[in-house]
Amino acid sequence: MLKQFQIDVTNRCNMNCIHCRNGKLASSEITELTYEECIRIFHEAHELGCESINIGGGEPLLHKDVYKIINYVSKYCYTSLLTNGYIIDDEIAHKLKKTKVDMVQISLDSSTPEKHNKIRNSKNAYLNVRRAVEALTNCEISTCFMVTVSNYNIDELEEILKFATELKVTLVNFRRLIPQGSGNLNFGNLNPSFDKISKFLEKVKSLETQFNIGICLFPFFSFKNKNIADEYLKSPLEVAEGGCSAGVTGLSVSSNGNIQLCPHIPISLGNIKNDVLYKIWFENYTILKLRNRKNLKGKCGICKFNNVCGGCRAYPHQLHDDLLMEDSLCTEFRASTPNEVEV
Ligand code: SF4
Ligand code: SF4
Repeated sequence: MLKQFQIDVTNRCNMNCIHCRNGKLASSEITELTYEECIRIFHEAHELGCESINIGGGEPLLHKDVYKIINYVSKYCYTSLLTNGYIIDDEIAHKLKKTKVDMVQISLDSSTPEKHNKIRNSKNAYLNVRRAVEALTNCEISTCFMVTVSNYNIDELEEILKFATELKVTLVNFRRLIPQGSGNLNFGNLNPSFDKISKFLEKVKSLETQFNIGICLFPFFSFKNKNIADEYLKSPLEVAEGGCSAGVTGLSVSSNGNIQLCPHIPISLGNIKNDVLYKIWFENYTILKLRNRKNLKGKCGICKFNNVCGGCRAYPHQLHDDLLMEDSLCTEFRASTPNEVEV
């Protein structure tokens, strides 16, 4: 069933981040969905069972109808806004409150102002994140930090969690850097080594009980806790239901109307101007292939966790132009002994 759908209402942005998936765009490359297009595709997703909608971009708050779109969608579904937070002040927080948005997810790249500003190419970025979270919290809107893990911040886990706790943020979502757009151009400098990522994940495990805050690590690996992983193996899922949502429980639409597996996989499965979502969802060959995780190659295909994980499909797609290839960043598989993994 389609559970999550992301609508990228515009690719316009007021920042120029060094890991941006859209990269630096010329004005001729700016595209936006109209209000009517957003509502139409939203209903198509909702009819397929979708219960959670992300409104993203670019910077979605630059779209003239964004409040109207959120206001409409939030009547039917859990609705999140993905924003850099740059323009959120008290007035915008009040406008968002009226839309009944459920969660505002704000990008944070460092707990240090200089580093966050450098990554975002903006001298006020950090101050404005603080202002945004405070304004939203004052309006009783839940907030989440979206942290793209890179060489700039991988040693700052504790500081980021402290900063989030101080600001009363509900959830910190540590995301993987995908080699896409500017993130691809700067991948060599930004991408942490496998060993650094393994240590980072271990540190999360050791710290999570100290902080009264939600921590999400996917798409690194679904289980932070070995006991939960062991419990899962007693009765594993028969079909793919968890982990990477691309084509399995999720889809997205880009600002030019292309239907995609996920915002990080810019393969067009069709376009909302010509195609209907249910046909893509039920008949598209790539989607059908992804739904059977035995089709995944290498370690992901034989992994006991693949129906609840599946790796990140964007990563091998962007690195090797192969959606089905094993996820080379999986720490779980490398940590397993041959006896623990059936080959
Ligand atoms: S491809 Fe990666 S980023 Fe996209 S839904 Fe799957 S895990 Fe998430
Ligand atoms: S091998 Fe693939 S499916 Fe298994 S845990 Fe690792 S990333 Fe997930």
